Amino acid sequence: MLNENSLDTICAALAHAMGIEPPENAAPANPELVEYIDRKLGDQKADRIFMYNPDAIAQWIYEKYKDLLLEATEHSDIEIPLRTVMPSVTPVCFATMYTGAQPEVHGIRKYEKPVVMIDTLFDALIRAGKKAAIVSQLDCSMSAIFREREMDYFIYPTVSESNAKSAELILSDQYDFIAVYNKNYDAVMHKTGPEGVNALAELRVNAESFAFFSHLIRKHWAEHNTLVGFAMDHGCHEIDGQLGSHGLDMEEDLNIVHLYRIYAGKANTSV
Ligand SMILES: [Zn+2]
Repeated sequence: MLNENSLDTICAALAHAMGIEPPENAAPANPELVEYIDRKLGDQKADRIFMYNPDAIAQWIYEKYKDLLLEATEHSDIEIPLRTVMPSVTPVCFATMYTGAQPEVHGIRKYEKPVVMIDTLFDALIRAGKKAAIVSQLDCSMSAIFREREMDYFIYPTVSESNAKSAELILSDQYDFIAVYNKNYDAVMHKTGPEGVNALAELRVNAESFAFFSHLIRKHWAEHNTLVGFAMDHGCHEIDGQLGSHGLDMEEDLNIVHLYRIYAGKANTSV
């Protein structure tokens, strides 16, 4: 069965967390995430958001290999089941995540990486005077489709360099919104299948990276109300030859589960 809420509901929920106007074409905010944010922050808002974007971790993988993702679930409070959009490929899905719009509205409808021309969460952040950054790897969708905005892009050949830069950005305490992309589960999954040992190892790496960033945020953004998310774009399935794929209108590719947690700033007494 497909999850009820579309990935398009996340964008307005992130805007809600920060108390800013959502992008023009964003679908209504995800009710579960809004309820969680309001319960944790009371009448306050998040002044920071840190989105960790691992590629292609499916709900079925998340459920079958919970042990490998324990560091991510232990550093989150809420699971948000979502149905990603079609075709379930990276640029199409990330464009929906950060515009709140369906593919026919945001314009990326196949595996291609043009700059998104409609209003995005990054544009909404910039209008609200917020400072945003994307940290990603060379030639990846997240490095390409949100370009041409007044924000910062840190693009590296490897995930380890991206993660090192992300740690620096947290310590520098200057950005209101940071999205950190990790391509590696997807890249390996295509070659070994979703359950190949090398792919499963990348689950563990993603979870530990998220935990590592969470520790840095808790200590170095201690004065801020921060929403952190472990937020993938789509799922995956096995194909002949022990390879992995995605892009189809099927449960394995469409169902995903995002994880979120609020770290309330020291000044917030409502938590
Ligand atoms: Zn992807």
